[in-house]
Amino acid sequence: MTRTEELAANLAAVEERVAAACAAAGRARDEVRLVAVSKTWPASDVAALRDLGVTDFGENRDGEAAEKVAAVTGVRWHFVGAVQTNKARSVTSYADVVHSVDRTGLVDALSRGAVRADRTVDVLVQVSLDGDPSRGGALAADVPALADEAASADGLRLAGVMAVAPLGEDPAAAFARLAAVAERLRQTHPYATTVSAGMSGDLEAALEAGANALRVGTALFGHRAPLSR
Ligand SMILES: *Cc1c(COP(=O)(O)O)cnc(C)c1O
Repeated sequence: MTRTEELAANLAAVEERVAAACAAAGRARDEVRLVAVSKTWPASDVAALRDLGVTDFGENRDGEAAEKVAAVTGVRWHFVGAVQTNKARSVTSYADVVHSVDRTGLVDALSRGAVRADRTVDVLVQVSLDGDPSRGGALAADVPALADEAASADGLRLAGVMAVAPLGEDPAAAFARLAAVAERLRQTHPYATTVSAGMSGDLEAALEAGANALRVGTALFGHRAPLSR
């Protein structure tokens, strides 16, 4: 099998899972965006999946992302990892969506970067589902203020929320908490409808709980090298 054949088979298997989960949840496939998380994989893999019809790709390190952005055209880029404040300017030069907004200082830095690049960048507030913000994400109680700030920041468009299921907990319970945060957010920001949740191991649970953006790496590309992320 060539690498392209392997990626095509992986994509078909993921699409089968997504279709089955959508059917089980009574949802339409076209209301769900598949973000292929290409971290650690080469630009040639991104180009191959693009040619197979994948439109959205996710990265979590600025340096690696910038290289692939320069090498592959015609796709939308999502930044799904922690953003260091000093990388905000670079990230806003190429990212269409930043999934990991979790603090006030980062909203300011992303806003300045987007304005400087003369771009509008969609942002998602990352929610900590285990109450430990040191592992990324804002506490649920802090989401409304952060969302208000992002919604009024120049160059940014508040698009919704994102979360990673905590280890050692049933993802369905965690994604239900995210759904509640998302619903509360829509009461004040009705257009902020994106719910980014679900990875290779838990995309069915995320779809069942209402996610409409899946971030899938391993199931599309294979297992990442053990010492990388
Ligand atoms: C790596 C990563 C993913 C993809 O995870 P897989 O288990 O490989 O599908 C999704 N979201 C974030 C934030 C990631 O860092």
